[in-house]
Amino acid sequence: MRDGVVVFEGNKIVHVGKSYEGDTDDAIDARGQMVIPGFVDLHAHITQSPLSMGMKEDMPRHVAIPGSGTLSPNKWVPESWMPEVMARSSLYELLKSGVTTLVELGAPDWLGYKESVELLGESGMRAYISAGYRSANWVDGKLTHDNEMGYSQMENALGYVKDHEGSYCERIRFILYPRTADLASPELFRESVRVGDDLRLPIGTHVSQSIREVKIINEMYGMDPVTYLQSLGVLRPGTILGHTVFITSHSLIGRTEYAPELDLISRSGATVAHCPWVFARVGRALESFSKYRDRGVNIGLGTDIFPQDMLNEMRWGAVLSKVVDIDSVAGTAADLFNSATVNGANALGRWDLGRIEVGAKADLVFIDLGTIRMSPVRDPIRNLVYGATCQDVDRVIIDGRTVVEECMVLGMDERKIAEDLQRIGDHFIDAIPGRNKKGKTAEDISPLSFNMM
Ligand SMILES: [Zn+2]
Repeated sequence: MRDGVVVFEGNKIVHVGKSYEGDTDDAIDARGQMVIPGFVDLHAHITQSPLSMGMKEDMPRHVAIPGSGTLSPNKWVPESWMPEVMARSSLYELLKSGVTTLVELGAPDWLGYKESVELLGESGMRAYISAGYRSANWVDGKLTHDNEMGYSQMENALGYVKDHEGSYCERIRFILYPRTADLASPELFRESVRVGDDLRLPIGTHVSQSIREVKIINEMYGMDPVTYLQSLGVLRPGTILGHTVFITSHSLIGRTEYAPELDLISRSGATVAHCPWVFARVGRALESFSKYRDRGVNIGLGTDIFPQDMLNEMRWGAVLSKVVDIDSVAGTAADLFNSATVNGANALGRWDLGRIEVGAKADLVFIDLGTIRMSPVRDPIRNLVYGATCQDVDRVIIDGRTVVEECMVLGMDERKIAEDLQRIGDHFIDAIPGRNKKGKTAEDISPLSFNMM
């Protein structure tokens, strides 16, 4: 709508139209701006970003960076404030790129539950939070499941739900998080579905995210990971499948030309959380966004680790779709914008998010159309997807409350966060020789782009 008016009362939109005759307490002059629904990020790990920045890029994929293992944080994070710094920096970036609803996977594993609820609640973000759980251990090079361990981790993850579901004016919710298709046993997945249905909680996991995982599931259960999860009842509305890249028709799997998984997902009502950038930077891509969409799969977007930038994900999602399909009309700006908004909201069963309409939550993002990147304006959504950066996000409102104003995240000091990141980044690099048997330094493992004098 050109020259529109949006009116909200409290946290709810009460009017959308060309004009408004009623009284208001306050008015925001958004002339020269585009007002869009806030983005819904379906897959992010805010405490696991971005210590390996400058180490992982341009490296062979199998090169391990000592200390960057994500499942046993306590082994390498001696300072309890490290994950908090990472979480704050991630939140800053997310808010600054217009994310108003966040599905956060695993922050409580690093920060603790209470701390995660408080940090996310106080940031103003609308969030679905979870501690992860798994049953798998590696014993003599073989994956074996310990269900008792899995159930107890799951119980721990559920501990906070009853008391804190809906806290911070209903902005804080929970999601179940059996970590990956191979790390949770069939029993643990079934139990997750049972509890999820019972407590009306969404389920998030990772599936078909690596070739290794596809191999493990095939060896253990004789099927591909998506079919395996479907056989356990995991595919359902409210289930968010992280990545789902290596389906049977992917060129690196290459088993069939036709992927039956896509029909299973689309018929089930589950959603794929597509995180284009983390895969693109290691030379991998969904094959392809438009193929999934054309087969009826609901595709939402996620930012995964770093940068936590939804505008970046939309752009890479669109461009990669065109590259993979060798087709300029694949993965349009409208497709990716829908993925970042309404598809993500629908994945969570939230008909009050991801859209601007009467009755929806007042989660709004104001894009400055007066910058060089955004001018000239004919199709502002294309300009947004192909041109905008966080610097064009002028204001963000979540639940009726302004959290970003004049391009600044209120109550957060960007410079201070960056200084803290540098400090823990230096500490991380210094500690690397002590964290590998051969005493290799960061430079041994990941040489700098150019020698530094
Ligand atoms: Zn992930």
